Amino acid sequence: MVLLLLVILAILIWSIQVELEPKHSADVLVETSCAACHRSVDIDSLVCPHCQQQIREACPECHRGKLISHHYCPFCGSAQKRNDES
Ligand SMILES: [Zn+2]
Ligand SMILES: [Zn+2]
Repeated sequence: MVLLLLVILAILIWSIQVELEPKHSADVLVETSCAACHRSVDIDSLVCPHCQQQIREACPECHRGKLISHHYCPFCGSAQKRNDES
C-alpha cells in the first residue's frame, strides 16, 4: 500500500515537472521585452512590432546582430558603448 502511494506521488511530481519546464524555457529563449514599451517581442525581431523601437543592432566589432539592450556582445564579448547612459 505504501509502495502504491509512492508510485502515485512520483507520477504526480513527474507530470507537474513535464508541464512546467518546457513552457518556462521556451519563454526565456524565444521572447525578450522591448526597452521602450516593455511588451514582449520575438527575440529575432529587428524592430519592436508595437512601437518600432529598434531591438537589435550590428555589433561594431563582429557585425553580428546583437540585442540592443546587451551591454556586451554575446558573440565576441566586446563592450558596447551607449550614448543614452544617464
Ligand atoms: Zn516597443
Ligand atoms: Zn561582437
